[in-house]
Amino acid sequence: MLHVNARSYRLPTQPTVVVCVDGCEPDYIAQAVAHGQAPWLKRTLASGTALIADCVIPSFTNPNNLSIVTGAPPAVHGICGNYLFDTATGSEVMMNDPKWLRAPTLLAALADAGRSVAVITAKDKLRTLLGHGMNGLCFSAEKADEAGVLDWVGRPLPSVYSAELSEFVFAAGVQLMRRRGPDVMYLSTTDYVQHKHAPGTPEADAFYRTMDRYLAELDALGCVIVLTADHGMNAKTRLDASPNVIYLQDVLDGWIGATTARVILPITDPYVVHHGALGSFATIYLSASADRAALASRLAALRGIECVLTREAAAERFELPADRIGDLVVVSERFTVLGSAASRHDLSGLDVPLRSHGGLSEQQVPLIVNRRIDGLDGDRRWRNFDAFELALNHAQ
Ligand SMILES: [Zn+2]
Repeated sequence: MLHVNARSYRLPTQPTVVVCVDGCEPDYIAQAVAHGQAPWLKRTLASGTALIADCVIPSFTNPNNLSIVTGAPPAVHGICGNYLFDTATGSEVMMNDPKWLRAPTLLAALADAGRSVAVITAKDKLRTLLGHGMNGLCFSAEKADEAGVLDWVGRPLPSVYSAELSEFVFAAGVQLMRRRGPDVMYLSTTDYVQHKHAPGTPEADAFYRTMDRYLAELDALGCVIVLTADHGMNAKTRLDASPNVIYLQDVLDGWIGATTARVILPITDPYVVHHGALGSFATIYLSASADRAALASRLAALRGIECVLTREAAAERFELPADRIGDLVVVSERFTVLGSAASRHDLSGLDVPLRSHGGLSEQQVPLIVNRRIDGLDGDRRWRNFDAFELALNHAQ
């Protein structure tokens, strides 16, 4: 048995693959199955285990990927966004440096226990976090050329903004399983397709058809497969299809004057073209003189706001590290996103109506196992970070 972050895991006896499909709102799978585009998933949903799980809030990529590989919420692993206001230095920084990680990953522990472990991620931003402390193969599709894997994957280097970036992850995973047969593999895609295309559209179905084909190949190789997602995805538009944004920095500057509040959007990362750094979660740092309770209730009364929590309440409800969030946490509703100041968002790259995530409305994600597991409580609050527990303790 392995003990990692207060959970116990059995060592794998069969090749084990956990797949995090970025932005996989459950309806993407349902629509692809309904349209006959995902025959492997259709069979697996019938013969295996199909659950709906909650991801962690903020429903963003990095916090959830780290939760999946640590089996723990952000309060434990420390990664609560892609982007952080570092109070120690007074600067806004990317959170993709492993120095922010507060817990070991299960992947590193499996490698230390002598199992061969491989991690393939679409975007390079996640690579150093996922591979931290891990003795094994870890590379991104984005920089597959630097990793020297293009030859054996047999595909050209994909563009960072393309469906092919995720396909590369699956293709590399299948090749790797064929050639080297690692004991454990973690595959993490990107949500380029999901940001642009709604469930059931031809483009979305094509992505899931491709994914389905690769998963069928891994299944045929005898792998235990658990599929989950880092977060869902929803349209965030007004009736006229323009982005439905509340620019919190502008709102607060108007109420209490500039320099009193600092709005941080943890969705911000180097790849904002497809969402303009607009998501449904924000955190606000207030100066000492600001009336926190009054601002919280005033913000909560705005149309489109789902909830406003104090730091302490947010840390408890969403299991977040209290020292890495602001005085207030704001979550917007399904059709609404939060911005900082309008002037700071470049929306010129939005060539289709905005789809994004970050809030409670994107919390439900699929949790699918290609083995039937009897006796599981479907009404339990499953989490996407139960994926490895299902894979290692129940599916083999
Ligand atoms: Zn994501």
